[in-house]
Amino acid sequence: MIANYHTHTPRCKHAVGPERAYVERALSEGFQELGFSDHSPYFFDVPGYYSTFRMGPEQLPDYVQTLLALREEYRYRIRLRIGLETEYYPRLFPRLLDYLRQFPLDYLILGQHALFNETEGIYSTHPTDDEKLLDQYRGQTLEALESGLFSCFAHPDLFRFTGDPKAYCRHVRTICRRARELGIPLEFNLLGFQEQKHYPDPEFWRIAGEEGCRVILGCDAHSPEDTWNPALIARAEALLSGFGIRPIETLSLRPIR
Ligand SMILES: [Zn+2]
Ligand SMILES: [Zn+2]
Repeated sequence: MIANYHTHTPRCKHAVGPERAYVERALSEGFQELGFSDHSPYFFDVPGYYSTFRMGPEQLPDYVQTLLALREEYRYRIRLRIGLETEYYPRLFPRLLDYLRQFPLDYLILGQHALFNETEGIYSTHPTDDEKLLDQYRGQTLEALESGLFSCFAHPDLFRFTGDPKAYCRHVRTICRRARELGIPLEFNLLGFQEQKHYPDPEFWRIAGEEGCRVILGCDAHSPEDTWNPALIARAEALLSGFGIRPIETLSLRPIR
């Protein structure tokens, strides 16, 4: 592993450690490229609603400035990329994009933490056996990928479906096939793997292997110490190799301008 594109900062309110510590850690692991993709701001249209796991819109300028300065400082040692992890909330996305386009962002990764949007849907990690919701996850994430604005699909197996396994396979296969056609890599999430969450889901990755998807490992680092460990990476590679998947090492970034 020589690059990681999934790195947070304390602005999202559930990550710790200064940006510099993440950069130093990446250097000590021999990484050549480090992408920050903290939880993006969003503009909600429900009065009084405040999302608790992302930076506020007013924090984005400082995020970008801090990373630009570090990029300059470390330019001979590591390539730093400035991105965001964002959900695709159809009704709210255009306004967000207008705002994001004012900043020199190198990329977006899709992390679909809620269906519809946070104020009117359910969280993707909430267990459900309702196939209609799985279908919504499929439709919503594919619409996002088809926009051409996302460089990678982070933890694509975040949706926690407890219903009919055949239905799960069917929908996952559609997601994987379309991602492959669009040339968008799927992220195997090392944080979920380390913490033994419900993702990465082996069934998902089996299908991704059958569909010939491009796959990249992502640390999803919420602290400089997180998930950058060679033993974990080796275990992830072994699991994926069982499904015929050899992860790619770097992303081709799609700027949003
Ligand atoms: Zn997070
Ligand atoms: Zn993340």
